[in-house]
Amino acid sequence: MTAYRAAWTWSEPGDLRAGDWLVVERGRVRDLTARPPAEARRIDLGDGLLLPGLVNAHTHLELSFLHGLTPPPAGDFVAWLEGLVRTRPGHDHLDAREATRRAARQARESGTVLAGDITNTFRAQEPAWEEGLHTVSFGEAIGPQRSQPPEPSLTWREGVLQASAVAAHAPYSVPDWRLKALKLQAGAQPFCIHLAESRAEVELVAGRGEEGLRLRQFLSERGMNLDDLVFHGPRPLAHLLALGVVDGRTLLVHGVQLTAGEMAQVAERGASLCLCPRSNLGLTGAIAPVEAALAAGVNLCLGTDSLTSSPDLSLWPEMATLLRVFPALAPEAVLTMATLGGALALGLAEHFGSLRPGRLAQAAFRPLPAGLAKSEVLPQALGEPGQVQPLDLRGQSQVN
Ligand SMILES: [Zn+2]
Repeated sequence: MTAYRAAWTWSEPGDLRAGDWLVVERGRVRDLTARPPAEARRIDLGDGLLLPGLVNAHTHLELSFLHGLTPPPAGDFVAWLEGLVRTRPGHDHLDAREATRRAARQARESGTVLAGDITNTFRAQEPAWEEGLHTVSFGEAIGPQRSQPPEPSLTWREGVLQASAVAAHAPYSVPDWRLKALKLQAGAQPFCIHLAESRAEVELVAGRGEEGLRLRQFLSERGMNLDDLVFHGPRPLAHLLALGVVDGRTLLVHGVQLTAGEMAQVAERGASLCLCPRSNLGLTGAIAPVEAALAAGVNLCLGTDSLTSSPDLSLWPEMATLLRVFPALAPEAVLTMATLGGALALGLAEHFGSLRPGRLAQAAFRPLPAGLAKSEVLPQALGEPGQVQPLDLRGQSQVN
């Protein structure tokens, strides 16, 4: 049994403490207390903030090799898609594997412990596992038959989670009948879908507008049968609601174009929404209406998206970006998105996202200046770039 003390510990929303001890036993959190058991070995981490390991709820690890090869996002979503599919084929698999491994390592070094990872190949699972990054690999279906996801599963392999779940690419790229079948296949596991990411998507579903036409043309050139595109509502979310695929186990990603009214509908269904602030800004010039989502009670989480639309896989700049664009947001709300919000969205809050008793003892430590007032801790930790230290406190006696 070991007890770790930092000047500050944030264990979960509403719980920022000064100087308590995090007691770890057999790889899991046992307690957070002012008086650790006498038999516990004590380690003082010093000035800084101890927090749960971060959850990157949306990334595409297998695209890491494209970093710097695709045109940088310049606010034109369809042009970026075209660049991506032009560049993706024809790269050596071993290079891709090494790039994935590097990306997973960087994510771990920035304090991320768990990733919701979209995949068409499942090739990132192994390198991510080797780097100790827990993953939920969302096998992503596109079009009427491409990339059939395997059955969902949840396995621990030498202390590292290797789960598989089901994803559909987007409302406009998977036929209605297949979306329903995929959601059914997802069962009790999370079901992930990109939603309302761009204006092009909204226009395509509405059947009018120049951006929508360009996206439609792109799909047709990629071999999508446009007769398959039958929409059951005037907007992307309405379409998914009509199909019955939005519920408490649905993880919607991006939602840039969702309205305040639609946020209320998302909240009503209990679905989660993942924001990818830097990717969203780069590809579309905007981020979802975050304050409306919070006011409606949507479970929000954070993702980096892939290295084709983000410079790195660290969630710290994502949090800082969100606070810069929405200065009225409480830093704690943003930290919640990067921890518990992600764990809830992935259905894994019993293991990740907080330092409550029973959770995996994987944390991050953010060194901070001494003598901060309590109200200064989270703004300082999240608002400015700084060093982060991943802390795997599970020691040798790992249990799941
Ligand atoms: Zn994505």
